[in-house]
Amino acid sequence: MNAVSGSANDTLTGANAPAHFDHDVTIVGAGPVGLALAGWLARRSATQGLSIALIDAREPEDSAGDPRAIAVSQGSRTLLEALAWPHDATPIERIHVSQRGHFGRTLIDRHDYDLPALGYVARYGAIVQALAHAVRGTQVHWLHHTQAHDPVVEHDGVTLPVVSAGVERHLRTRILVNAEGGLYRTPPPRDAQDDSDEADAKAALPAAETKRTRDYGQTALVGVVTLAAPQPHVAWERFTNEGPIALLPMGGVRGADYALVWCCSPAQAERRAQLSDTDFLAELGVAFGARMGRFTQIHARAAFPLGLNALDALVSGHGRIAAVGNAAQTLHPVAGQGLNLGLRDAHALADSLAQHGATPRALAEFAGRRAFDRRMTIGATDTLARLFTVDFGPLATLRGLALTALEFAPPVKTALARQMMFGQRT
Ligand SMILES: Cc1cc2nc3c(=O)[nH]c(=O)nc-3n(C[C@H](O)[C@H](O)[C@H](O)COP(=O)(O)OP(=O)(O)OC[C@H]3O[C@@H](n4cnc5c(N)ncnc54)[C@H](O)[C@@H]3O)c2cc1C
Repeated sequence: MNAVSGSANDTLTGANAPAHFDHDVTIVGAGPVGLALAGWLARRSATQGLSIALIDAREPEDSAGDPRAIAVSQGSRTLLEALAWPHDATPIERIHVSQRGHFGRTLIDRHDYDLPALGYVARYGAIVQALAHAVRGTQVHWLHHTQAHDPVVEHDGVTLPVVSAGVERHLRTRILVNAEGGLYRTPPPRDAQDDSDEADAKAALPAAETKRTRDYGQTALVGVVTLAAPQPHVAWERFTNEGPIALLPMGGVRGADYALVWCCSPAQAERRAQLSDTDFLAELGVAFGARMGRFTQIHARAAFPLGLNALDALVSGHGRIAAVGNAAQTLHPVAGQGLNLGLRDAHALADSLAQHGATPRALAEFAGRRAFDRRMTIGATDTLARLFTVDFGPLATLRGLALTALEFAPPVKTALARQMMFGQRT
């Protein structure tokens, strides 16, 4: 979504168009983040009497086939449970982090933090449908099968062209929220990127849309696997010289079903995508090791190219457009932070809008509140993705030392685990 400054009265709706607003807040994107925002806002905004629109090109039911399983942190559960919670979420009680072929491992256990679970694994589609159910019962004006196009920003609001059933019209809104997600696409080729630590592509982008981008040179292979000797409620993060392999417990008979996220080079991913299930599982067994016995089955195989795409500024369009969720930052899944961070964005935005109304002041407050958490979470995920995805001997030793050090420095481990579970909310 690229905002354009200008006069919609001249360009879109005719010179004499009335300056009325169709909605106070219009949210583009009914993915989990846009839905959560709509739900929280509907509950919180009664005092402000805000009218809210939610727009998506798809139906929530379309997400039923999405192959992603998401680790929802304990902090996100606390935010979500009063609104909606997927009925089949599987608790994670312990996380086992290790490296294949090198020393060093660390364990994170719910008992150490006195929590019912460290997090929960749920299908993307189940999260979307639970949230959609909660939003359907509210005053949110939901436009289904509606595609939003680039908005035009004016001095007092935003005009948004939308197309539904082939018919275009223009909605006027005081505040526009971009929750349209981010494509899991590879950013510009390496030679087009700044190789410095900052690694951003500021020069190539207009000022209002500067981004931090990185191509990790990796693709995530996902699917649901069954294991011969499962350890129910234990999640595994195993670093290999190709990239991390995550196995997230999904229940099933004897707790034997696990969501797989296997990060490897795009070339390997393409080759593995052609393998039969049997050959794929045999390669996975070699890469992961035999800690839970043999991999016996796989279904719902899919691939997602991975990259970092993070907007520098959450608010643009003269203070009238806010970005949340993947539209604001698309992260490597190594630490399972994308949705969790997006939900914290949405919760803070609902809070600011409910407090200050549909005004630029609300968005300015929101951007200020989110700055620290975004910096910490994006920085930690990017560091992990780079440190643990490089195949370089001395780095493996360093990683082993880091994992071992975590075991012997409980305060550091606690701080890291708490950041991953709860983030920073103000
Ligand atoms: C392999 C993998 C594993 C992951 N694992 C985890 C994990 O364990 N934990 C975690 O927290 N995160 C994880 N993530 C990240 C997580 O999936 C995303 O952060 C999350 O889905 C973002 O939600 P969203 O609502 O911002 O965007 P999306 O889910 O992308 O939803 C965007 C919505 O906007 C709609 N839309 C887009 N453009 C328009 C338009 N122009 N007009 C109308 N509608 C539009 C789309 O139809 C869609 O419904 C993972 C990601 C991957 C790829």
